[in-house]
Amino acid sequence: MTTAATSVDSESSAFDVESVRRQFPALSREVYGKPLVYLDSAASAQKPEVVIEAELSCYREYYANVHRGVHRFAQLSTDAYEAARQKVSTFIGAGCPREVVFVRGTTEGINLVASTFGRQRVGAGDEVLITAMEHHSNIVPWQLLCEQQGAKLVVAPMSQSGELIWDEFEKRLTKKTKLLSFVHVSNALGTINPAAEMTAAAQEQGIPVVIDGAQAAPHMPIDIASIGCDFYTLSGHKMFGPSGIGALYGKLEHLNTMPPYQGGGEMIRTVTFEKSEWAEPPAKFEAGTPNIAGAIGMGAAVDFLKSLDMAQVAAYEAELLEYGTQTLEAIPGLTLIGTAQNKAGVLSFLIDGVHAHDIGTILDREGIAVRAGHHCAQPVMDFYGVAATARASLALYNTKDDIDRLAAGIGKIREVFG
Ligand code: PMP
Repeated sequence: MTTAATSVDSESSAFDVESVRRQFPALSREVYGKPLVYLDSAASAQKPEVVIEAELSCYREYYANVHRGVHRFAQLSTDAYEAARQKVSTFIGAGCPREVVFVRGTTEGINLVASTFGRQRVGAGDEVLITAMEHHSNIVPWQLLCEQQGAKLVVAPMSQSGELIWDEFEKRLTKKTKLLSFVHVSNALGTINPAAEMTAAAQEQGIPVVIDGAQAAPHMPIDIASIGCDFYTLSGHKMFGPSGIGALYGKLEHLNTMPPYQGGGEMIRTVTFEKSEWAEPPAKFEAGTPNIAGAIGMGAAVDFLKSLDMAQVAAYEAELLEYGTQTLEAIPGLTLIGTAQNKAGVLSFLIDGVHAHDIGTILDREGIAVRAGHHCAQPVMDFYGVAATARASLALYNTKDDIDRLAAGIGKIREVFG
C-alpha cells in the first residue's frame, strides 16, 4: 500500500459517521414507512441541529436589523452577522472578511460578478471562457453579459469521462479572453477541476478567474489563497447551512473598483438627489436588509464543518464514492455518467430501458431520495446524448448501508421493468 493510501485510510477511519448522523434530525425520519436514505445533497443538503438552533436563537433571542440601530438587539445581530462573515472568510482562506460579500447563493454571486466586473472588463469582440460541464448558473449570466456587450461565449470541451481537455482549454485562453469562469466540482458529473492550475494558466495571460464553488465547499477544504482566483462563490444550503444565503469571495482590489450591483439602503455613503457615493466593500454590494438569520446560520454551518476536519470528510467521502462506484458498476444494464479520475461524491446513472424519472419515482417509494432530471446542466446532458440522468449524490452523513439500500432499490426497478 502506498503512503498516500495509508494516510487516506487512516483519515477516513477516524471519521465517526454515526455521531455525525445523530446531529441531523431529518436523517432519522421515515418515508413511506421506511428509514430515509438521503442521496440528494448536491441539490440541497440536510441541516445539523447547530444550524437550525443558530437561526432559531437569532429570531428568539436577539433579532434586529443590522448596521443600523444603536439599541442592544441591533448590536447583537450586527455582531453575529459580522462574526459569520469572519467565519466564512477564515474557512475559505480569504485575505480578510471584507473580501466576503453575502449574497443569496452561487447564482447571485455569479450574476453579481457578471453585471459589475464583467461589464467593466468585457467589450465588443471579447471572449468569456467557460467549460463544457457548467451548471446553468455559470452559463446564462455570461450569455446575458456577452449579448449586452457584443462579446462571445467560448466553451472549453471535456472528454467522454467528463474531464477538461487541457490542451483544448489552453488553446482557448487567448488575447481575446477577458474572463475565465469554471465550476470547481461539477454537480452533474462529480468531476473535480484542477482549480489552481486552471487559475494559474489564465492569470499568466492576465485573465481574471471566477470559480463556481457551490459543490466544492461541502466536500473538501477550500483555500482561496492557494487557488489564487479573483472570485469564488458558495451556497449556504449545499454546505449544511440555510437556503437563501451564500457568499461571494472577491479580491479586495476588484471589489474596491467595481460598480455597485444593486442600489438601495446600506450600500451608500451619502445620497443626494443629484448624486450618491458608495460605501466600502462589502457593504457596497449588500443593498437592502440582508438574510440576517441565514448568514448567522451559514456561520454555524462553517463551525460545524470545521469541527469535523474537511480533510477527513474528503477522505471518508472518497471511500464511499469508491464503494458506490463499484456497487453500481456491478449492476447489469446500468451506466455511470461521469467517470473522471478526480471526482467528488456524485453518481449519475442511466438504466437501460428505464426513464430517469421512473428511477427516481420507484426509489422514492423505497424511501430513497435521488434526483432525476438534467440537473440544471442541459449542455452536459446533450454531450452524452441523454435527456436526463438519475443522480445519487453523497455527503458526509451517508454510509455504505445507504448505497446498499440504493442497489436494492435499483433491484426493485428491474422487477418492475423486467
Ligand atoms: N453551480 C453548481 C455546480 C450547482 O450545483 C448549483 C446548484 N445546483 C449552482 C451553481 C447554483 O447554486 P444556487 O442554486 O445555490 O444558487
